[in-house]
Amino acid sequence: MTATATTMTGTATATCPECGAEWEVSALTKGEIIQCPECGVELEVMSVAPLELQLAPEEEEDWGE
Ligand SMILES: [Zn+2]
Repeated sequence: MTATATTMTGTATATCPECGAEWEVSALTKGEIIQCPECGVELEVMSVAPLELQLAPEEEEDWGE
């Protein structure tokens, strides 16, 4: 069994996969949605140790086909 942290301790530097902005974050929880202060994109916290962010799926906007 591996104990996987689901909540951050201390602070870490988040990097936006969309625009490359870096900023300090703290107390994030795995699965939480945060917003990039630079481009405003929504990011899902995939992992907290190490911190890993991924673009959150857009469910409100329907781009159609
Ligand atoms: Zn960004």
